[in-house]
Amino acid sequence: MPSLEEGEGTRSVSTREATYPRRHPVDGVLLDMGDTLIEEGPFLPGRSPLIPGVGETLTLLYGRYRLGLVTNTDQAGRAEVSQALDRLGIGRYFSVVVTSSDVGWPKPHPFIFEAALSSLGLPPDRTVMVGNHLAKDVAGAKALGMRTVHFRWSPRYPAFPRGEEERPTLAIGDFVELPEALWRLEALPCPAPRAPVDTGEEHDL
Ligand SMILES: [Mg+2]
Repeated sequence: MPSLEEGEGTRSVSTREATYPRRHPVDGVLLDMGDTLIEEGPFLPGRSPLIPGVGETLTLLYGRYRLGLVTNTDQAGRAEVSQALDRLGIGRYFSVVVTSSDVGWPKPHPFIFEAALSSLGLPPDRTVMVGNHLAKDVAGAKALGMRTVHFRWSPRYPAFPRGEEERPTLAIGDFVELPEALWRLEALPCPAPRAPVDTGEEHDL
């Protein structure tokens, strides 16, 4: 009989868990903002800039995962981005908002992902990155050993990876597919983290 995951002893096994066994649990989800949650293009009057399916999907995910936002911004910091999320009615879902303006490093730099993981209090192998940008969202998070979901929604950005480092764990074309993708990810192993760049500094072991 296969051993149960740590802490799973009293958990009932649903049909979905039987289909996608939790060999590699996911506890946190980091999401990009532009063209992942909010449309980057020009807004039509009276039309919500939220991408279809985002509101109801975040409601579903909120009860199960710790959610964080990781976004590259020119100047806007955490407070400004949080206010924008609140105005759209989705701010309450995010326990963490991390901007490149605050961190000083944009995606795909590891520092911004590490800042978000540290704020969430989760390791990379328990956290999934979701975003529309293969070079920034997918490659950046994958380098840290995170599983990734490519939201292949906007025609503004490349739909297919240029190399193995940009290859996501899963891809979705509709935001409402995200809960199912996260379930499926729990059966899939994390990518190997890329070795950190040798800075030439010596470290004590
Ligand atoms: Mg984006």
